[in-house]
Amino acid sequence: MPKTILYIHQSAELYGSDKALFYLVKGISAKQKFNPIIVLPNDGPLKDLLESHNIRVIIFPVIKVSRSMFKPLALIKLPFTILRTTKGLNKILKNESIDLIHSNTLAVLLGGFYARRYKIKHIWHVHEIIKKPKIVSFFYPLIVRLLSQQVVFNSKASKDFLCKDNKALEEKSIVNLNGIDRDVFFTSEKEIIKTRNKLFNANKDDIVLALVGRISKWKGQHLLLDAFVKCRVKYKNLRLIFVGSAPPNQEHLLEDLNNKIEIYNLQEYCKIIPFRKNIWNIWDSIDIAVVPSTEPEPFGLVALEAMLAKKPVIAAKHGGLKEIVDEDKTGFFFKPNDSKDLSKVIKQLVEDKSRIIDLGLKGSEKAIKDFSLTRHINQFVQIYDKM
Ligand code: UDP
Repeated sequence: MPKTILYIHQSAELYGSDKALFYLVKGISAKQKFNPIIVLPNDGPLKDLLESHNIRVIIFPVIKVSRSMFKPLALIKLPFTILRTTKGLNKILKNESIDLIHSNTLAVLLGGFYARRYKIKHIWHVHEIIKKPKIVSFFYPLIVRLLSQQVVFNSKASKDFLCKDNKALEEKSIVNLNGIDRDVFFTSEKEIIKTRNKLFNANKDDIVLALVGRISKWKGQHLLLDAFVKCRVKYKNLRLIFVGSAPPNQEHLLEDLNNKIEIYNLQEYCKIIPFRKNIWNIWDSIDIAVVPSTEPEPFGLVALEAMLAKKPVIAAKHGGLKEIVDEDKTGFFFKPNDSKDLSKVIKQLVEDKSRIIDLGLKGSEKAIKDFSLTRHINQFVQIYDKM
């Protein structure tokens, strides 16, 4: 009998934790011994993608953690919400025998409470480092420990953060680094020239820096722009692209970024490209990936993708990025939040074109060797089997 695993996730977009879930579930469902069912809070591209692979998706409220949840009235209502929602989900699943629940990210509470109420084993898969608000970061270690039999972190950085001074939580925790396989052909030379021309306003000899990721307060778009403007004084062939959109209701972040590009008078050399489904075409067409996140990345899937596209990575030296990039072998680090240091590192790399190619090739070798999807999935299979 296949084991039925209920996955509960917080969004139906296609950013980091969404893609990580998709890759995992796709791999798991290919093994005959598992039957995954996914719960998402709403429709979206992730739902379509899962369903196109014949994976069952249920749309249901996942008790998503938000700031408003910590207002006094909302806190009073929370136990009732938990009771009502867990019962509602149980009704939907009445014909299923669920063997295991896998909560993907700390943002969903439904999995932990559902598992507790109906006595099902629960894995919490942590993809974040939550420092603020303080009240949330204070309670999480306790909640995660009480509601899970196994906690899986996507990096040592995210594990160290949540398990700090908490031996009981540490004992039920392990790290399973994300993995991806590139299952898309490399873009043809002709197509690359077209993309660079059309989307980046760049020719063959220009050097294109890219930050791929949602436009947010902590992904570092402004920091990179500050560094870029310093570099452009000497290196006129530099281009910068930001790829990704602002989250719903935060469109002002896009406006702020556009304004800054205008103030610097960089409209010709710096482009913002809204969320792209086909990200490999972008990775293949750029020269250097920059991951300048101002808060520590829990993992940083974009660094791994860039490496698989044979691109060097310039990364802020904190969080999960330290576990992906090798200094001076597959990329370079700079001091987090320091645009001057970032510009220094960019200048150093753009001086030497052959170094860009060499670091990119080494990055690809490392990504294939150490971050394969097969390794990532097999580690989860072992965990599921053990439970
Ligand atoms: N991404 C994408 N299209 C875009 C921008 C981003 O597909 O236009 C994807 C990117 O390829 C990566 C993910 O979003 O897979 C971002 O993951 P990461 O772990 O770097 O950051 P997170 O979204 O988890 O904060």
